[in-house]
Amino acid sequence: MFETLSDRLTTVFSSLRGKGRLSEEDINTTAREIRVALLEADVALPVVREFIARVKERARGAEVSKALNPAQQVIKIVHEELIEVLGGETRTIRFAKTPPTVIMLAGLQGAGKTTLAGKLAKWLADQRNTPLLVAADLQRPNAVTQLQVLGERANVAVYAPEPGNGVGDPVEVARSSIDYARRNNYNVVIIDTAGRLGIDEEMMQQAADIRDAVSPDEILFVVDAMIGQDAVTTAQAFLEGVGYDAVALTKLDGDARGGAALSIRHLTGRPIMFASTGEKLEDFDLFHPDRMASRILD
Ligand code: GDP
Repeated sequence: MFETLSDRLTTVFSSLRGKGRLSEEDINTTAREIRVALLEADVALPVVREFIARVKERARGAEVSKALNPAQQVIKIVHEELIEVLGGETRTIRFAKTPPTVIMLAGLQGAGKTTLAGKLAKWLADQRNTPLLVAADLQRPNAVTQLQVLGERANVAVYAPEPGNGVGDPVEVARSSIDYARRNNYNVVIIDTAGRLGIDEEMMQQAADIRDAVSPDEILFVVDAMIGQDAVTTAQAFLEGVGYDAVALTKLDGDARGGAALSIRHLTGRPIMFASTGEKLEDFDLFHPDRMASRILD
């Protein structure tokens, strides 16, 4: 995760070691090098610009400190700014006052929504919740079966339309799942919705219809981190088309650069809530900006 960016920044900082005091030129050179590192990591330009401006301003204003040498001081500033750009605080699920808490997943096909639904269900069940997985992705032929398999592995119940029963309306499936959850005491409902390979009116409309039918407590936008800055374009389209409360980043295990993680919060105003880091059910956790920043600077 983030190896390329991490290596680049290490090189940048190593050239500062041994310096007694940072001149304006040192600050400018370092800022330029960090800029290149971030651009190579596929971080969106407006995010890079603001990041660099803040680092420069703070580096110039940094007090001469006995505890930290100039290199350490710059690392500290970059560390804090990375935490900030990654969202600052860790955000978790807001549970509804009256159960069930309804969580809806939205995103493109292949983003990792269905996998994430299973992971989230297990994560919630491990915390003594009784989640219900709802198969409202009736677009992709295998999505319902995939969710059922995941549910079995996670030991979580799955609500799905009966095959061949003529139940082909995802909005109706989502709506009726809430009643089902209420009657059977499931305290969280996780609704997997259909995606397409690209931004598509019909897909957005369907997601918006499901949203209107179930009034989710949390809508999570699920996006593949490996697509880098393209994640931001998709994120903005979903923000307009459906709206969401937070982002779940998937496939971080294959993301050496970090462009999506570092851009998405700043450009959508929505926090990253979850990180998916592999194909196994356990490869999943809350997204911790501070830990991610430390990892980048490790
Ligand atoms: P959906 O179309 O959005 O429901 O996407 P899927 O959940 O079917 O995931 C698409 C592919 O990505 C599958 O092969 C998953 O195993 C894989 N996948 C999902 N999440 C991750 C992840 O965090 N890391 C890796 N390496 N693969 C993932």
